[in-house]
Amino acid sequence: MASADSVLTLADLDAWSFTGTALAVLGHPIKHSISPAMHNAALGELARSDSRFGNWKYFRFDVPPEDLPRGLDLLRAKNFRGLNLTIPHKIIAFDCVVAVDPAAQRIGAVNTLLATDQGWQGFNTDGYGLATGIREDLGLEVAGADVILLGAGGAARGAGVECLQRRCRSLWIANRTVANLDVLLKTLQPVAAGIAVHGFDPQLPPDDLPANAIIINATSAGLRDTDAAPVNLAQFPRPAGVFDMIYNPPKTKLLVQAESLGIPNANGLSMLIHQGARALTHWTGLPTPVEAMRIAARAAMAS
Ligand code: NAP
Repeated sequence: MASADSVLTLADLDAWSFTGTALAVLGHPIKHSISPAMHNAALGELARSDSRFGNWKYFRFDVPPEDLPRGLDLLRAKNFRGLNLTIPHKIIAFDCVVAVDPAAQRIGAVNTLLATDQGWQGFNTDGYGLATGIREDLGLEVAGADVILLGAGGAARGAGVECLQRRCRSLWIANRTVANLDVLLKTLQPVAAGIAVHGFDPQLPPDDLPANAIIINATSAGLRDTDAAPVNLAQFPRPAGVFDMIYNPPKTKLLVQAESLGIPNANGLSMLIHQGARALTHWTGLPTPVEAMRIAARAAMAS
């Protein structure tokens, strides 16, 4: 029998004997994901008051992108109830679902799937996780705020859509590669609905950048120790706070600089927890015990 800690592959489904309700995260690589620890802790907490959850378990599968469509079919055939998708699957899976929620539709990516009789139904809970993490850790609301977004990849696209949907006051986006920035600016146009969206070079911040903005790092600069920070905060008007989506390492160079300048700052762990909590609610139909998830996430990070 597969343990929730094992890294499984699609080959493990050939002799799948788990008879409970199965959930899983799919990624490539997936070994370092802390989602199984978070979700199994929340399921354990739910089971304390509702015995139905006693046989629910959350697994992890390493699935290369070329195997994803086949993998999604197989997992549905094996009665998996819900899936999370992480790098590099969020956009590929968008084309494999029978229905999507409005957030996923606007972003063009899904991070949560629910099995239905017709096929997989897709959701995107990343934006909810981001806005909730910013509120929880920094005490700031995206609605009505000036937002400076760093990055133009998948996470930045989701963040940009969320900020515009929540009616931020203005959105300023900086990215290393101009062509990718231009694509993102174009993608966001239909969602902007009157909100000013500007692009700029991260090494040359314009003079009219707003003070008291929320700076969100959605680049992957900082994942490796050798990465430089994506911007020099000393060149920016003083922001209200800096939120870095990266949570491992817990203090990127960007956050170290924010700290040294006395700017409130937070890493992306709370975003991860809240996107996961919302995903679990899609599968259970019940409020998620977020505190159990948070304790498990922090413990997993500490180990
Ligand atoms: P992605 O699609 O690969 O995009 C990467 C982005 O980072 C691009 O804008 C890229 O710029 C930029 N970039 C990469 N290396 C850089 C460097 N050395 N200097 C400056 N910019 C650099 O990745 P993604 O899916 O958007 O993910 C971005 C980050 O968000 C990752 O660190 C991921 O772990 C994090 N994330 C966290 C959560 C959470 O729950 N906390 C959720 C989702 C994502 P170019 O266009 O110039 O290549």
